[in-house]
Amino acid sequence: MRELQINGVKIRPGQSVNIEIPIAKLPTHTLIDLPVFIRAAKEEGPVVLVSGGIHGDEINGIVTARRLLEEMDSGLELLKGTLIIIPLVNIYGFLSNSRAFPDGRDLNRSFPGSKKGSLAGRIAYIVNEEIIPLIDYGIDFHTGGRMLSNQPQIRVDFKDKVGVELAKSFGTHFVVNSRLIEKSFRKAAFKQKKHILVFEGGESMRLDDLSIEEGLAGTKRMLAKLGMMADSPEPKGTVIIKESDWVRAKASGVFNSSVKLGDQVKKGQILARISDPYGQVKIPVKSPTNGYVIGINNLPVINVGEALIHLGKE
Ligand SMILES: [Zn+2]
Repeated sequence: MRELQINGVKIRPGQSVNIEIPIAKLPTHTLIDLPVFIRAAKEEGPVVLVSGGIHGDEINGIVTARRLLEEMDSGLELLKGTLIIIPLVNIYGFLSNSRAFPDGRDLNRSFPGSKKGSLAGRIAYIVNEEIIPLIDYGIDFHTGGRMLSNQPQIRVDFKDKVGVELAKSFGTHFVVNSRLIEKSFRKAAFKQKKHILVFEGGESMRLDDLSIEEGLAGTKRMLAKLGMMADSPEPKGTVIIKESDWVRAKASGVFNSSVKLGDQVKKGQILARISDPYGQVKIPVKSPTNGYVIGINNLPVINVGEALIHLGKE
């Protein structure tokens, strides 16, 4: 049987273990550690990582991972294998309502990291050395940006066949082709032949019930597919998005969308209007393609060139 060991702590079959990996001290001298929660079934099986908060202001994912942990600890049964749950990877960003670290670095562009590098690099290093080698699969929870909201979707590189099958089992309505980004967590894992899905739902700094519920339900469906949980209700069916692109503003002004997240749209359909504040100018924003609205900008005042509506093509 494969032995799991994190930060020198051994995890045996059937055990629930909580580990705190020391990271560094804040300028206040307060110790910051990385809490990792391991829930192992008696029977051997896949090791799956559930992580949130790699971007510290993306709160939906942190809550989704926490909800799974709470359910595990109140009786949700793991039939085989092991769950490693890290609800909040970027503690620093969380403290400062920020995506990044105090020095501006993005943890998701800091992999594989280094032992004596930047703070983000050090956390990346710990995850890369201590966690990724142990896992088979993972789901990493994200949201859109500030005022940029995403319809719940799984992102996976369609070249990763195992990842695509996993994404389908997750069963969130949209599965979006998304190439592996250099220095990202997902790419670092893929280099170690591990398959990590990215879930995107809602926007940063705002809790969104649909995203949290979808994320939780999808994780359970994926775990059921891996034989680690009892069967969960079948998903309603997935839409496979091969290509996606943002429709950008052709003019500056007040942006008023006439579509909402998840809508199916036709080529030439009016998606939104951009107007000046005086009622003199009104410019329609037309859809360049048939597709689905998978992301939307919630900012009412926009400048020319800004991303307005993210359209996915089947
Ligand atoms: Zn993110």
